[in-house]
Amino acid sequence: MPRYIDIHSHLNFPEYDADRAEVLARMRDLGVWTITVGTDLPTSQSALALAKGQEGIFAAIGLHPHDNMDEIFDYEVYKKIALDPKVVAIGECGLDYSRLKEFDNEKRNQLVQRQKQIFSQQIALANELGKPLMLHIRDAYEDAYEILKAEAKVKGDVHFFAGNWEIAQKFIELGFTLSFTGVITFARNYDEVVKNMPSDMILSETDCPFVSPVPYRGKRNEPTYVSNVVKKIADIRGEDEEKMAQILVKNAIRVFSLS
Ligand SMILES: [Zn+2]
Repeated sequence: MPRYIDIHSHLNFPEYDADRAEVLARMRDLGVWTITVGTDLPTSQSALALAKGQEGIFAAIGLHPHDNMDEIFDYEVYKKIALDPKVVAIGECGLDYSRLKEFDNEKRNQLVQRQKQIFSQQIALANELGKPLMLHIRDAYEDAYEILKAEAKVKGDVHFFAGNWEIAQKFIELGFTLSFTGVITFARNYDEVVKNMPSDMILSETDCPFVSPVPYRGKRNEPTYVSNVVKKIADIRGEDEEKMAQILVKNAIRVFSLS
């Protein structure tokens, strides 16, 4: 059993091209597992390539709502990749309305339609393969909730949760876990949610290379820094750090069937 699990990283991204082996070595030393996440077809392929043959590294594959807006989701191509046992989730997929303000009405409607369409396709893929969803939802919790409620036969995790406790409860009731990043080490907006979370429904992540936790703010993030996120979760909840780490590991193993 690892000491920590970072359920959402992008170790496949070019930010690690120069020293990926060292990052992986630091993870082995500390006892950190991770799920490295694709955001389009090329990064989904590289996520699986990275996970293959590496103990404690797993892949999630999918098409992010706005990372590669030109890509048309090819169900069969993704299905072929997703059949690999190292692929433990479909995503990151979901809805993200946060960057739509810059477009005119017509374009905005088109983009929302596209997001909903590729989200539904990925839910269908997850349903077919019986694999959980790795969800990216921003400024779109209501719509995403309705779609999941109507279409998802599998559960999964709402990555980088950024809603309030009321929204959190709806997703928990639907059977989805929520995961938290280094943001909780420097912003206090999520303390209530982190504190109130049922202990079996909370997960830890870094979303690296983005949002480094304190004391690494402004530097490139990496999966070993998940220890700082775990420490903060324990702090906020008034729990023993080692005990909290074990709970978070157990939750991740259960949700993503990691072995
Ligand atoms: Zn991500």
